[in-house]
Amino acid sequence: MGHTFTIIGAGMSGILAAIKLREAGFEDITIYEKADRIGGTWRDNNYPGLTCDVPAHCYTYAFARNPDWSAYHAPGPEIQDYFEKIVDDYDVRPLIRFNSEVKRLEWDGDHYIIETADGECSEAQFVIAATGVLHYPKWPDVPGLNSFSGPAMHSARWDTSVDLTGKRIGIIGNGSTGIQMATRLGLDGHDVVHFQRSPQWIMPVPTFAYSDEDRARFRENPEEIEAIVTDPEFIDSVNRFTTGIADANSPEMQAIEDYCRANLEQSVTDPELRQKLTPTYKAACKRLVYSATYYEAAQKPNVQTIVCGIDKVVPDGVIDKDGKHHHLDVLAFATGFHTDRFIRPTLVKGVDGIDLEDVWEERCKAYYAISIPSFPNFFMMNGPSSPVGNFSLIDVAERQWVYIKALIEETIKSEADGIAASEGALAAFEEKRIAAARNSVFGSGCTSWYLDKTGVPISWPWGYDKFIEAMQEPRFEDYELIGAKAA
Ligand code: NAP
Repeated sequence: MGHTFTIIGAGMSGILAAIKLREAGFEDITIYEKADRIGGTWRDNNYPGLTCDVPAHCYTYAFARNPDWSAYHAPGPEIQDYFEKIVDDYDVRPLIRFNSEVKRLEWDGDHYIIETADGECSEAQFVIAATGVLHYPKWPDVPGLNSFSGPAMHSARWDTSVDLTGKRIGIIGNGSTGIQMATRLGLDGHDVVHFQRSPQWIMPVPTFAYSDEDRARFRENPEEIEAIVTDPEFIDSVNRFTTGIADANSPEMQAIEDYCRANLEQSVTDPELRQKLTPTYKAACKRLVYSATYYEAAQKPNVQTIVCGIDKVVPDGVIDKDGKHHHLDVLAFATGFHTDRFIRPTLVKGVDGIDLEDVWEERCKAYYAISIPSFPNFFMMNGPSSPVGNFSLIDVAERQWVYIKALIEETIKSEADGIAASEGALAAFEEKRIAAARNSVFGSGCTSWYLDKTGVPISWPWGYDKFIEAMQEPRFEDYELIGAKAA
């Protein structure tokens, strides 16, 4: 019998997994997608200013570079179009079952039973969870939230039919999303009131459009694209960042902070505003915000920055903690996501009915972010402890795929029913990871979505070089084969 594969999610990682499975000669592949379109985060997000702050040529699949990017940092809708084109170019669309949310996934001895929301069941030997991280919108815990009478939209549920012309817009939140939104709306001349709870370190980055001539050159000379992807300056900046994160007091982290502080001091002339925008935690503790123009926007007379906190939302605006009433026509929530869900709320059951919810009771964990003991042939992409930061998550997923493919091949070669990391291997990995995470810059004393509910950073706490090395090949001695003929 041929090998069967289920992929959950038709975003960046799910599309990648399907293409790579086909390339490896597998044909029996089904992708379940709960929405009616592919794209994941790039489908969900459509807020003003949406851009990817990773250079566009780096934020593409290595096997499908794109000479047509309009700018060094691509706008969100263009990235969505890129994935739509990839899905057609690689004939992935026929594999996708849209509007099909997987509700239950249950290991049944040598395969999984997959049940969708409409009650339909199917089976697959291998399951790849490509469900994303920044998926479930988080709303702020502010009194009166539902009393606002105007349009109120989360950044990932943006309603483009709302006309913002002449409107006074309140933005709550100043992560990468809130800063992009406030910058775009502010520079476009909208009246913006930006509610910030903790100021952000802002890293100035180059930003420029590609001309028709540039695009023609990229088409004719693909090596020019590779030169951008492998630009030593870019690689060096990523390496400096990712090797420095392991130690919150490293010179690399200090250099980043000095650079961001100089950016603030040179860009913001009003001492009062500068004070408001000065963070009180280490740079890169939260994801660094990359922007060439945020400080320009923040200094526009049409942009107000409020840092005293929100007392409550009222029907016509927001009352801040100083008692000031801000009249608003539109309220935008750039308040992030529930980043600890991963595949949940899908019910996932492994060997002997073990429930993933119980395994993850204390914190979400997976061996090298990919495999969970007692859940054979269940592989996660961008799962718990996967690297996150200011680099390409496509590169992360592509490297994870190499590792997952090796696990699949080992299972097939051994004529086993399944493969999963051993309990001991995950426990030892987590012990090392948590100790390193506590020392990393992410654990140096700030709030962020990088922290789990116990306050421990959930992300990869070592340098990216260590991640690259780890993904080259699994340590098979840390895995258990289930039902292997050879055993
Ligand atoms: P986020 O980084 O989690 O930021 C949420 C923001 O909401 C924070 O500023 C937070 O303040 C604020 N907030 C939450 N509750 C609040 C409340 N009750 N009152 C006031 N403020 C409140 O979310 P995000 O900006 O959507 O970004 C999430 C991730 O998406 C990023 O880290 C990044 O990985 C990705 N992203 C990437 C890009 C890109 O260009 N590549 C662009 C956008 C997003 P505190 O900091 O005080 O908690």
